Amino acid sequence: MSERVVKDKYDRPILSLRITLTNRCNVNCIYCHHDGMRSSKNEMTPDEIYKICQIAKRIGVRKIRLSGGEPLIRKDIVEIVSKINSIGFNDISITTNGILLEKYAKDLKEAGLDRVNVSLDTLNPETYEFITKKDYLEAAKKGILKSVEVGLYPVKINMVIMRDINEHEIKDMFNFCKDNNMVLQLIELIESENCDDDKFSAEYHYKLDMVEERLSDIADEVREREFMQGRRKYYINGGEIEVVKPVDNSKFCANCTRLRVTPDGKIKPCLLRNDNLVDIITDIRNNESDEKLEEIFLKGIDKREPFNTD
Ligand code: SAM
Repeated sequence: MSERVVKDKYDRPILSLRITLTNRCNVNCIYCHHDGMRSSKNEMTPDEIYKICQIAKRIGVRKIRLSGGEPLIRKDIVEIVSKINSIGFNDISITTNGILLEKYAKDLKEAGLDRVNVSLDTLNPETYEFITKKDYLEAAKKGILKSVEVGLYPVKINMVIMRDINEHEIKDMFNFCKDNNMVLQLIELIESENCDDDKFSAEYHYKLDMVEERLSDIADEVREREFMQGRRKYYINGGEIEVVKPVDNSKFCANCTRLRVTPDGKIKPCLLRNDNLVDIITDIRNNESDEKLEEIFLKGIDKREPFNTD
């Protein structure tokens, strides 16, 4: 029997769910969009997250990504992964800053985590401290290497590129990734009203088009990922770089197959909007039926609108 696929009104299938487990974080990155949310009251419990994932599975979601804030500062992170894993998804991943990965990578792998994306914008301790306001670079690097060691695969490094801050470090970061069998993802800085410094994102925004041109010139092979916002992958000397450009990118929206859930249990139809959330946690706490919860999910999907259209 073929798996169910629910599509939104723009014919985009909903295949993955990104759950923000908390808005709390152990660093304070200068550019952080806080996944569009700030408050962190009433975080969902592992059982509530499990219920949301069960409903997601019913409507055909194949992949779960856990994010934050910093998801690894939840002390129940291993339990959460283990519960989600028992439902049977194709892929469970976490986006983390890696600082606590040395402690958790092995347990997370055993609990059923498939892979991690680790945010690391620089290999320079001073730049790291400038960006995150903390001196955890060594901890983050140890965590990254631990996740490779325990077999989380692939480990991807998310590097947000900022003018005059780390744009010159792409080559070093690429070599760090290549040497450790990891994929580098270059991310274009999103201008966000949630940034701590309003002017920051405009001042440091660095268009990745030029970088892509250089990569095209030197790559042994270039591939476009059909269902990943038309992202390009560049293969260079046995290493791999992906480029993620959410800014003014209609393809980013046209190919979006992802629904989001906030830490306090609301369905968030779009990363870039906060005004169309759909409450599901109240009904979960009221022990509503799976049919009713599915209806709420479908309502969230119905509210999906492309943010960038041209
Ligand atoms: N704490 C985790 C981490 O550091 O990966 C997960 C949360 S963080 C908000 C998720 C991702 O969003 C990170 O890769 C981060 O670099 C990216 N991000 C945050 N603000 C951004 C912005 N203004 N532009 C582009 N990417 C951003």
